Formats: sequence, C-alpha cells, structure tokens
Amino acid sequence: DNAQPKKPDWIRVKAPGGAGYNETRRIMREHKLVTVCEEAGCPNVGECWSQGHATMMIMGDICTRGCTFCNIATGRPDTLDVFEPGRVADSVQKLGLKHVVITSVDRDDLDDGGAEHFAQTIRAIRHRSPETTIEILTPDFLKSKPGALETVVEARPDVFNHNLETVPGLYPEVRPGARYFHSLRLLQRVKEMDPHIFTKSGIMVGLGEERQQVVQVMDDMRAADIDFLTIGQYLQPTPKHHRVDRFVTPDEFASYEKAAFGKGFLMVSATPLTRSSYHAGDDFARLRAA
Ligand code: SF4
Ligand code: SF4
Repeated sequence: DNAQPKKPDWIRVKAPGGAGYNETRRIMREHKLVTVCEEAGCPNVGECWSQGHATMMIMGDICTRGCTFCNIATGRPDTLDVFEPGRVADSVQKLGLKHVVITSVDRDDLDDGGAEHFAQTIRAIRHRSPETTIEILTPDFLKSKPGALETVVEARPDVFNHNLETVPGLYPEVRPGARYFHSLRLLQRVKEMDPHIFTKSGIMVGLGEERQQVVQVMDDMRAADIDFLTIGQYLQPTPKHHRVDRFVTPDEFASYEKAAFGKGFLMVSATPLTRSSYHAGDDFARLRAA
C-alpha cells in the first residue's frame, strides 16, 4: 500500500497567485528557465514567487538519477545550452535578487558532472549582479572526473549546498546511486579548499527514519564542518513515489532545531515546510548582519 497518511493542518498552504507571483513566472518563462519550485511541486511556491524568490534549475529538466522521493524525470538529458548561464544572470538582475539559489539535475552523462556549467553560471551572475550572494545546490559529482569539485569551488559561490536527503540507512530505497559518506566528504572538501564558503546540507523527515538517526546525521555533518542545516517534511509528489511514513509534528521539528543549534550549526531551519531554498536569502542576510 503506497497511500500516504492524511495531511495534517500544518501542511496546508495558500494557492499561488497575485502580481508578484505572476511577474516571477513571466520572467522565468521569458528566459526559458526551469525552476525546482515548479518541477518539484514545492508547497511554498506561492509565498516564494510573490517575493521574486525562485530556485532556478540549470542543465535541463531530465536527470540521470532516479531518487524515489523526487519528481524530476529520469532519462537521457539534453545537450548543455551554452547560453543558459547568461539567461540565468539576466533573470537574477531583472528579479533584483539579493540572494539567489541555483540548482541542477544530476549529470552523470557529462565528464565533469556539469561543474564547468555551474562555474560559468556563478561567474555570469557575479558579473551582472556583483552584490548578489550566490548559493548553489549541487549534485554529488560521484561519477565525475577528478577536478570537478575544484572547478565549482574556484568560482567562489557564497554558499555551497548539497543535500544528504535522508539518514544513511534509507539510502538504498530513497537515494539509490548515491553514497552517504561521499556526499558528506564532498562538503568537507569544499570547506577545506575554501573556508570562506559557507557549507549547507539538508534532509527530509517522515520517510521512516528514527530520531536517533537524525541526531547522528547532525553529528556527522558537524564533523564535516557543515555550517547550515535544513530539515523539512517529505511530501509524496505522486502515488508512484516513496510513501510518507508519517507526518513529523511541529514540536518535533522545534526539538530538532534546538538540538542542531546546540551542536553548533550557524543557521538551522527545521519546520514542516522547510525546503533547502526556503527563506535562504533572509537567513543568510541575518547571519551576515550578526
Ligand atoms: Fe522554490 Fe525553494 Fe521557495 Fe520551494 S522553497 S518555492 S523550491 S525557492
Ligand atoms: Fe531528483 Fe536530484 Fe535525485 Fe536527480 S539526483 S532524481 S534531481 S533528487
């Protein structure tokens, strides 16, 4: 039985609409950009887009992996569009973003996993909007040739985010094709190469994990010097995807947040609707002002 338990009140969200939302949508369409907000059916799209906050997904909308929680199509991706970095930079400028989050599908078909395309996108945004802080949410570069991660780090994003997604025990059924310790080590290497870059990671809960396993992930992340943490409720995009085991209560989220701050994370967001890009700009601005 793949049916999910009934959605509790705290998961309900407002339907998207309004002038700000429509303007963001227009700019995304005009620049032919793919957003994870739409592809993943994110529950926060109404709130985020009304403020111009969209998370752009580069390198197409077809992924070489098939994570069982994810709504992105799996298959053979399109060839890279050399004009995409410029279009992303243009839309960041038009939206007037102080902080932008750029993510991508996984590109195991490319030698460098798309590292150079990420670097070009970072440089294009910097060139057009030097004041904008740039957060990237990358794949794991597990199958890329050596030097891929270095290419991305040398472009100096402000925040390097890569999600662990779940506890290691659930990797085979949730994130097949990925390796927990590879992902942890990836983030640790970013910090070793450039300590000025903030590192960030996140997990979903409600997939069947135990509290103790979540606490262990926090410890592993701190041991890898990860600065920011996000924890949100997993929602099933379609009945074909991994089932929701349960809805974690707001009190449990609050308790995760408290535990995480106690372990030394600089920034923590743990609420049912937290997504890795949710309020990323506000949180980052607060941290820099502190
Ligand atoms: Fe998009 Fe992230 Fe906001 Fe969701 S939380 S709508 S993915 S920016
Ligand atoms: Fe989705 Fe990322 Fe997994 Fe691809 S690698 S299926 S985009 S979560």
